[in-house]
Amino acid sequence: MFVPMIASVPKRLLIVDDEPAMHDSYVRSFAVRRGADGEALDAMAAELFGAPALDAADEPDAFALTHCHQGTDAVAAVAAARAAGTPFAAAFIDIRMPPGIDGRETARRIRAVDPEINLCIVTGFSDFAPIEISRAAGPTDKIFYTAKPFEVAEIVQTATALAHRWQVDREQAAARAQLAAQVAQLEVQGAELAANESRALHMATHDSLTDAPNRLAFQRALAERARRPGLFATAMLDLDRFKLVNDTLGHLAGDALIRDVYAILHAQAPEGAVVARLGGDEFGVLFDCAGEDAAVMACDRIVAACAGTHQLFGNSVQSGASAGLVVVEGAAVCDPVDALRRADLALNDAKRAGRGVTRLFDETMDEGIRFRRRIEQGLAQAIARGELSLVYQPIVSRGDLEVVGFEALVRWHTEDYGALSPATFIPIAEESNVIHDVGDWVLAEALAAVGRFPGQYVSVNFSPRQFRRHNFVGHLMESVERAGVLPGRVQIEITETAIFDDAERAAETLYRLRQMGFRIALDDFGTGYSSLYNIRKFALDSLKIDRSFIDGMGRERESAAIVHSIIHLGRALGLEVIAEGVETEAQVQALRLAGASHLQGFFFSRPVEPHLAFELADQRFFGRDPAQERPSTGTRG
Ligand code: C2E
Ligand code: CA
Ligand code: CA
Repeated sequence: MFVPMIASVPKRLLIVDDEPAMHDSYVRSFAVRRGADGEALDAMAAELFGAPALDAADEPDAFALTHCHQGTDAVAAVAAARAAGTPFAAAFIDIRMPPGIDGRETARRIRAVDPEINLCIVTGFSDFAPIEISRAAGPTDKIFYTAKPFEVAEIVQTATALAHRWQVDREQAAARAQLAAQVAQLEVQGAELAANESRALHMATHDSLTDAPNRLAFQRALAERARRPGLFATAMLDLDRFKLVNDTLGHLAGDALIRDVYAILHAQAPEGAVVARLGGDEFGVLFDCAGEDAAVMACDRIVAACAGTHQLFGNSVQSGASAGLVVVEGAAVCDPVDALRRADLALNDAKRAGRGVTRLFDETMDEGIRFRRRIEQGLAQAIARGELSLVYQPIVSRGDLEVVGFEALVRWHTEDYGALSPATFIPIAEESNVIHDVGDWVLAEALAAVGRFPGQYVSVNFSPRQFRRHNFVGHLMESVERAGVLPGRVQIEITETAIFDDAERAAETLYRLRQMGFRIALDDFGTGYSSLYNIRKFALDSLKIDRSFIDGMGRERESAAIVHSIIHLGRALGLEVIAEGVETEAQVQALRLAGASHLQGFFFSRPVEPHLAFELADQRFFGRDPAQERPSTGTRG
């Protein structure tokens, strides 16, 4: 820290006394000081600090005396010294100085002009009590007393002490001032940082060209609006022929057009609307509306205002905009991202329809929605048309790789899309009652196949909606009876989602199914939210470890740890643990070591057509060499 070097400058002393003789004795006192005493001190300092004796100019205790004979002169001298930047360290003030003001008043006035100066009152026997003077010219710690007549040594000692103290006070004051300055600077910097932060925030949420809210800000506004009830419109606008302007007149002209259009949108959008630049020549407008018609009208007005001639650097440019619009109800099932996506789809439609038009979103514009509709409708007929089939994937025991069961997996061969994965169409079917038709078909087909297996069970997947179906248990029982199959030959695969939505009812259902002899497997275990602890209360036969963990086992420690703890838990609860998605020999070894009771996956066999499944079933063991009758891994089925 910077501390000003005041030490080298001689300290200024003010002598205030009406008697000339007194001034002489002060002068003599300090002259002596420069003699023998000074040298002795120098020698001592040299010994103590190992430094060479200071020369006279640098001597810390050198004094410069100023003499005044009257109090008012003294006050003036103090004021002048301060003004000149060379203040006094101390003043020695005689108490009686007729005809002028006395020492007490002098001290008081000096204090008024110099709060730092040390005052030494030189007083006779019957003068004022020191306390009175302190009151007048405090603070007390800057007022000292010495009696008249004084001794040389006494006065020099007092002057030295006061000067030293004055200097320390000044250094401390300087340090405090510097600290205060630093604090003030920090405050300024803090304020700047805060300003920078809000600038950064502004920049992150605004477009630099127009200063309009950007895509991020628009999405936020949308998300926020979607939480509140009431209808609102999301419009996306896109400039017609913008690329042409950019290409022919240059980017500066393009920028100017963007700014113009933003100004128009801003002026034309309904009150309270959020107008944002989403990027390029694309804008978003978000506003509350009474309904679709009102929203279309508002949007038409904006589009009409955008159509017109713009003057860009001396060129007349015809411009216009197209808009896509969607109106949704807030606080309902409104996904803000989806609102933007739909507005975008509507915008595409508007662009296709020609320029300068507004299009309101409808579901036929959405390929995703169209696809879903076709799947839903197609699935209903798929069964009748014989487009569904089942494939079977063997489940193998850990020890001798015996095929103990087959998982039935549905396939759909569509006319429009070729072979569709159940991962695609089951979730769509699951959203409507079509899932029941598919499920019934799968169950009947699987039950018909069981009879062809020598002893293995068939494992059938049930989606949550199927499981929650009214009279699920009765329906299953009826099905097996009709097919003439023992429930013990059927394993029901359900997921955590199916049972944890209504755990009590699920526990009851599972209990009854198990009482009847069905096997129960908890599928995709580890992907849901159920705690390992929670599954105790369910009547289960096996846990199927989701294949994502098996897949990650060799790469991530967490996956391996999860697999191990699932296996541990399963064993502790007396359950079978089936590892799904086993693809490599290394996984087989690791899972056997970890203690999985059963394995399933491409390593043994892909899901295969029924006739191949029957062959595998008859063969019973994987990799059994008939000559040696000993199982070995590594042979694919
Ligand atoms: P899931 O129940 O987890 O079925 C296992 C899926 O993993 C099957 O996919 C199977 O082909 C695949 N798989 C088996 N071994 C391996 C392997 O080693 N590596 C890899 N990468 N994959 C393997 P699939 O047949 O496409 O079935 C997908 C999902 O569709 C099933 O997952 C199941 O949730 C559902 N599903 C299939 N059939 C039905 C059904 O009849 N009814 C219901 N409700 N859902 C079904
Ligand atoms: Ca399954
Ligand atoms: Ca599974």
